[in-house]
Formats: sequence, structure tokens, C-alpha cells
Amino acid sequence: MAAKGICDPTVEPQSKFDFKLIRCRTDNYAVLVHDPGSGDTLVVDTPEFGPIDEVLRKTGWKLTHILNTHHHHDHVGANEALKEKYGATILGPAANKGQIPGLDKGLKDGDKINFGGEVIDVIAVPGHTLGHVAYYMCSEKVVFTGDTLFSLGCGRIFEGDAEMMWHSLDMLRHLPEDTLMYCGHEYTLNNGEFALEVEPGNKELQQRVEEVRELLRQGKPTIPVSIGLEKRTNPFLRPESQEIRDHVQMHGVENWRVFGSLRERKDRF
Ligand SMILES: [Zn+2]
Repeated sequence: MAAKGICDPTVEPQSKFDFKLIRCRTDNYAVLVHDPGSGDTLVVDTPEFGPIDEVLRKTGWKLTHILNTHHHHDHVGANEALKEKYGATILGPAANKGQIPGLDKGLKDGDKINFGGEVIDVIAVPGHTLGHVAYYMCSEKVVFTGDTLFSLGCGRIFEGDAEMMWHSLDMLRHLPEDTLMYCGHEYTLNNGEFALEVEPGNKELQQRVEEVRELLRQGKPTIPVSIGLEKRTNPFLRPESQEIRDHVQMHGVENWRVFGSLRERKDRF
């Protein structure tokens, strides 16, 4: 199945925006995207006011848009404080109107946001929450996946079910392989330890976990990471893997069932 983001593959994307990944709370990430041309700046998720405000003050960027991936407090907590200070417009899943503080514009699957002369596609990725959306910036080859897809892992299924969550992940794994994925949390090492348990023979996974350990030792983030690398290393995107199927002892069943079994095992990991 093709991802729904409308992207002309014949047009070579040109990166023209600046990105800043901001660590918030203990393990959350917010991302600032700045368009030098128009001066517009957006933030994806608002876990904490202080660290986001600090970067905005240092760069002098004026926050114009807040994009929320889902309604959980650690993704919307600083919405109102940032809106009050910078006058930004808040966009997020329409399904969670009332749960997203200060929401100005509700979004649904297939909607498009204009930012800096480019289009951001809204892709519904339900499962972690029913209203969860991802934001795909085709022109920059970047996707923001919130708590749906993590590096080497995926979010817990709080509101949906395994089949629904699998459908969402399947959509994300069909984005172009050189798309860079930003997610909502720094969970990569714990995810990697689980991944090695279920697919220990995956050489590229072994290598990625080593790199992740080194990045963390140096105090660096482990994201963004390409969709292509995730497809080759993240067990939750790999239900076709023979080694994973052997591990969960499930053969001749649909991908979502293997995925569901992995997710349950990870919940207990
Ligand atoms: Zn969440």
C-alpha cells in the first residue's frame, strides 16, 4: 500500500528549512522547523515550555505554528504557554478537540498544511491514540511520527488495536526510504535491546545498536533516522522476517498478528 502523502517523485526535493531537535522533560523530543525565507517557524509537539522557548530566544525565530501529533500531555503540555508568548496557531487531530489545549484548527487524514511555500501532509496513524497523526514534509524528505513509530520500536497501543496500529506502521514504512524520521521519544536503546532479543541474527540491527550506544555515550540523540534503515532493523516493521516469525512461533498468519504478538512481548519486556 502506498503512503498517502502526495509527493511528485520526479521532482528532486530541495531542503530549505532549518531543523532543531530539542530534548524535553526526561526523554521527549520536540522539533523546530524554520523557514528562513518567510521567517515562519513551527514546532512539532510541545512537551515542555523552557527548552523550546530557550531555542526560540537564542535563534530569534518567531513561533508561528504548533503541530501536535496526539493529545497526550507530554506532547501538548506547553501549547498554551507558547501560544500566549508567540501567538502561534495550534493544529492537531480534530478527533481530540477538547483534549488538545488551545487547538485552533482540527486536522484529519489527507489534510494539507501550507508552510514556507511547501506542503505538509497529514497522515492518520491511529493505534497509540485513535486520533494520532503523522506529519510528512515531502519537500524536505522528513516525517514526524510522534508516538506511533519510534526508532527500533513503536508506541504502546492505548486506544486502538493491533490490526489498526499495524496498518498505521505499514503506511509509514512505505514512505520513500531516504525519508528521515523524527519521533517523540528517545527510547532507541531499550527498543534495540528488545529488537536483538527477537531478531538476534540481524547484522544491521547489531550494528545500529552499537551506534546507538556510542551516540548516547556522547550525549547525542539517536534520531533522525531513515525509514530505509528502520525497515531493515525495527522488528515492528519486519513481521515478514523468518527469524522473527520463528521467535514468536507464528507462521502462515497475517503480518498484523505477528506485529501484535511482538507488541505484547514488548509490553512485558
Ligand atoms: Zn503518547
